[in-house]
Amino acid sequence: MKIAVLALQGDFREHIQTLESIGVEGVPVRLPADLDGVSGLILPGGESTTMRQLIQRWGLVDPIRGLAATGAPLFGTCAGMIVLSKQIVGGDPPVLPLLDVSVERNAFGRQLDSFEADLTVPVLGDTPVHAVFIRAPVIEAVGPDVDVLARLDDGRIVAVRERNVLATSFHPELAGETRFHRLVATMAAAHDDPGEGAGRRPHPTRRARNAS
Ligand code: GLN
Repeated sequence: MKIAVLALQGDFREHIQTLESIGVEGVPVRLPADLDGVSGLILPGGESTTMRQLIQRWGLVDPIRGLAATGAPLFGTCAGMIVLSKQIVGGDPPVLPLLDVSVERNAFGRQLDSFEADLTVPVLGDTPVHAVFIRAPVIEAVGPDVDVLARLDDGRIVAVRERNVLATSFHPELAGETRFHRLVATMAAAHDDPGEGAGRRPHPTRRARNAS
């Protein structure tokens, strides 16, 4: 299985390394053709204004929307989350409005430019996620189909999922945290082979024939 990583700008190398550490091939994406044959896409951290401009300039808007429409998983971290949001506080126009949230950029201000926190993320199990926040956004409102996966102690939302689109304000790829990437790989495998894990079995006669 191949998972694409948008490689226009930002910390795409760390995402590719994290995928490789769990045995998944990470494919850097710069042009639409790089998306051929991939089972999912990660949008890294970086600078969302630059990333939004480059996505448009390189003709990636429609191909990425097309991939999302197939149900393949998309995962945005930090700037990647901003790029996927339907609404950006302050009026920056959305470029890939695939996640029904309103996001505030640089939500922690200058005083708390970067920090780390241990978060409870129930979908990933009992062990807390060590989260690295760097000039991070927060989600200030979510639509009805969005699941909140994690909050800070003060209640602010920092990880969400809406069907096949996942996003975090923080950087699991900078903290040796692999569980989000494993979740993306699991979602991608289910997308590639919807019968797997859903209890579907080959037709009995076909199974008998295959066995001989
Ligand atoms: N502050 C950046 C932005 O608004 C995001 C920072 C990051 O991705 N670490 O684009």
